[in-house]
Amino acid sequence: MDKKDYYEVLGVDKNASQDEIKSAFRKLAKKYHPDVSKEPDAEEKFKEAQEAYAVLSDEEKRRQYDQFGHAAFQNGGAGSGFGGFDFSGFDYGDIFDNIFGSFGGGFGTHSNSSRARRGSDSLMRMKLSFEEAVFGCKKDIDVEVVEECSECNGKGGFGETTCDKCHGSGTITSEQHTIFGSFLSKTTCPKCEGVGKTYDRICNHCHGNGRIKVNKELEIKIPAGVDTGSRLKLSGKGSAGTNGGPNGDLYIEFNVSDHEFFIRDNNDIYIEAPITITEAILGCKKEIPTLYGNVTLSIPAGSESGEKHRIKGKGINNEATHKKGDMYIVLKIVTPKKLSKEQKTLLEQLNKTDLSDDNDIKEFERFVKKNNR
Ligand SMILES: [Zn+2]
Ligand SMILES: [Zn+2]
Repeated sequence: MDKKDYYEVLGVDKNASQDEIKSAFRKLAKKYHPDVSKEPDAEEKFKEAQEAYAVLSDEEKRRQYDQFGHAAFQNGGAGSGFGGFDFSGFDYGDIFDNIFGSFGGGFGTHSNSSRARRGSDSLMRMKLSFEEAVFGCKKDIDVEVVEECSECNGKGGFGETTCDKCHGSGTITSEQHTIFGSFLSKTTCPKCEGVGKTYDRICNHCHGNGRIKVNKELEIKIPAGVDTGSRLKLSGKGSAGTNGGPNGDLYIEFNVSDHEFFIRDNNDIYIEAPITITEAILGCKKEIPTLYGNVTLSIPAGSESGEKHRIKGKGINNEATHKKGDMYIVLKIVTPKKLSKEQKTLLEQLNKTDLSDDNDIKEFERFVKKNNR
């Protein structure tokens, strides 16, 4: 691939302004346009200039070209990302309108109004309850979709006849006389606008478009495991394309409410389980809620606040990632604030016994003594 440098092609400096680039291209286009040029390699030269202009007139593409050279626009090229660059769809409209203003379209470039364009993507935000996000759910949403008009079956009118101006071809060939000389040019038929047919009566329902925007209620399935910030893509459900271009996509972004007891960390679920001092000392069996109903947890004697118990696989069963989370139970020892007389007596008796036979307590007391100066 020994492609010429785009700046060289246009004959401009690396730091050329957009105005300079545009003006350089216009000069070349005038000189080499295949419909007017007498130069032997006009078509090739013209294409070269077109390609260079398409890149350098677009700040983003120019930046990529400056960084990666031609590799930026070849499949698998270093900076590609958009793999291959189609120059044919590039909009030279205003340039040619300025140069060849007298005869409009017909240069293989399309005017803005008739080119198929993809609709834009849209974003919808949706609130979900904790349970809806965790288990997945179905939701009805209102979207605007483009459908074939049912009145005219997508034809746009009634009483179809072949256009008498272009005889059904949709284009008209005419001889043009310009400052560059005379030549034949093909233009879109003004009567049928390139369709090749006309109608006795335009469809009122779709105003001749054949397609119509309708609001539709759509049932969508939200997979188990979505979280705040997750996005669901609905292909083709964004804004309608124009002139037969495809629709954009619709993204739904979720905002998930908190649960009163369950705390979510990705696919894992945490719950804090309050237990009494004696339950912690003596051990106990506790009924613990999980996403899938209650389970009985054996809490061993001598448990401490903050200790975690894991139940494998009882977290979120994520449909999108096919990963299963775990359930964690975090113990929280609650110190009683109100005691009955009897409880107080029992605790005072307990306090007289030696409960300090614990390494942590012993070490701490040793430090207290040492620190006493
Ligand atoms: Zn026609
Ligand atoms: Zn219609």
